[in-house]
Amino acid sequence: MTLSSETNHPTPEAPGLDHDVIVIGAGMSGLYLIYRLRELGLRVRVFEAGTGVGGTWYWNRYPGARFDSESYSYGYSFSQELLDEWDWSEHFSSQPEIERYLNFVADKFDLRRDIQFSSRVRSAAYDGENRCWNIVLEDGSRHSSRFMITALGPLSAPTMPRFAGVEDFQGRSFHTGLWPKENISFAGKRVAVIGTGASGVQAIQEVAKTAGQLTVFQRRPNWCTPLHNRPIDKEEMARIRAGYPELFQRCRETAACFVHTVDPRGTFEVTVAERNAFWEELYAGPGFGIWQGNFRDILTDPKANKLLSDFVADKIRGRVHDPDIAELLIPRDHGFGTRRVPQETHYYEVYNRPNVTLVSMLETPVERITRTGVRTSGADYEFDIIIYATGFDAVTGSFDRIDISGTDGRKLTEEWKSGPTTFVGVMVEGFPNMFMVMGPHAALGNNPRSIEYNVEWVRDLIGHMSGRDLTVAAARPEAVEEWTGFVRQKAQGLLSNEIDSWMTGVNMNVEGKQTRTLVRYSGTAPEYREWCDMVAAKGYPELALA
Ligand code: NAP
Repeated sequence: MTLSSETNHPTPEAPGLDHDVIVIGAGMSGLYLIYRLRELGLRVRVFEAGTGVGGTWYWNRYPGARFDSESYSYGYSFSQELLDEWDWSEHFSSQPEIERYLNFVADKFDLRRDIQFSSRVRSAAYDGENRCWNIVLEDGSRHSSRFMITALGPLSAPTMPRFAGVEDFQGRSFHTGLWPKENISFAGKRVAVIGTGASGVQAIQEVAKTAGQLTVFQRRPNWCTPLHNRPIDKEEMARIRAGYPELFQRCRETAACFVHTVDPRGTFEVTVAERNAFWEELYAGPGFGIWQGNFRDILTDPKANKLLSDFVADKIRGRVHDPDIAELLIPRDHGFGTRRVPQETHYYEVYNRPNVTLVSMLETPVERITRTGVRTSGADYEFDIIIYATGFDAVTGSFDRIDISGTDGRKLTEEWKSGPTTFVGVMVEGFPNMFMVMGPHAALGNNPRSIEYNVEWVRDLIGHMSGRDLTVAAARPEAVEEWTGFVRQKAQGLLSNEIDSWMTGVNMNVEGKQTRTLVRYSGTAPEYREWCDMVAAKGYPELALA
């Protein structure tokens, strides 16, 4: 998407208001918003709850945190200079390197001067008369702007289990998504990890290396596959750099913006030998290949999915010495790839170590947290450290934590009570001049690719308005209905939409989120972009602009 000539006008939008645009969050979306909105000559203010940039990669500094996407496919693509200057050290880099990268970006483009850190937004209210948003921070300070852009991230509202006694524990406890900056040593310590999603799996395999005793509390197991990470040396980085145009082009063409391309063959269109050879190759290959680059029907055809699940189950059996433990680690309630696949490095082998114990919460549920540890229906366990890897109130949770009200005081949480409705995942009816980057119904996946697209689309819309002296953009109800219908249609037939997970809006730890809702757009990213491009090309008829 390129900037049209009219959007080059520097047109400060809102004299009398504190800012032209307020952005909430200085993660990958917020940083890129500053860069692009400055091109329009706008006064941008970013409010960030943390003390540094990075969002997800600032908060999730738990041991073992690293990319599950290829590093070079995850970085920003917009600046050749940036691509030329930054070297990735691993195919799947770790959190410290990612945080360094995002700080490098912030410094290179001088983004920090528009960010106010340690500033959590408490409420945001639309003022129809003055066509502006009024934002109140936790410290009580008030700020106004013409536009408000949420750059909250889909996984940024950590949730604790609703166990009795969490506050009673006398040792130290941490949530993976709120990990402290200080170094936490596990040496010789009795450590519990509760939760075995992508965060838990990464933490478990790291903590097991040094903990005196590690006890993993698992409710429903997940299908985990090997990451096959390795370092990148100078020569390989040079080859990767030379291939950036093709790499980003591929990411533009794939369904979820990953580098892996779906195999056009059906699972049953090949011989058994061919199928097994292909799956062996994928299992031995890096990253999400086995999930995103498999036969075209593994995520839609239950029979194909069952075959693949059996293949991965056998891999687990082959890696875990104790057959009873192996069986506990094999999911029974969902097929491979129907929930987000955690990527691992010797995760299953962790359970062969003498210092690691697996407790199935399906067999012996946690009854409470005690002063000294965890009580299940079967036993009392004592710990020095408890790690909660219990996930997030995903997609809409970060919105729910801000008191957002639109036209006539309508509350966003009320509007979205039985699931979000949006226009292209960017706008909500009744909330004019509010734009979302990576909101519900946007194209998730390898997120930075979608972030760049979303940000540029919003930038172009604001540029379009500036060029015409327009100060209000509101999504028309019929446009919201049409888009939501498309989201619903695209959700049909995908096995993952029949399973409880954050991707279907379920979080047992959050009041009112026990049933599945359509929080996610399940179509392909190219289809998403085509729809949005069309809206822009037609001059935004789906929006009431004034
Ligand atoms: P998650 O996938 O939602 O996993 C949470 C885990 O905690 C699950 O095992 C869940 O069990 C368990 N749990 C939650 N509440 C519980 C309770 N009350 N009692 C017992 N167990 C409970 O969360 P996550 O691991 O933080 O990952 C969330 C998403 O973040 C991932 O899917 C991924 O998209 C993203 N992520 C990405 C990366 C990366 O790219 N490198 C790394 C980490 C996370 P049940 O399954 O039984 O509910």
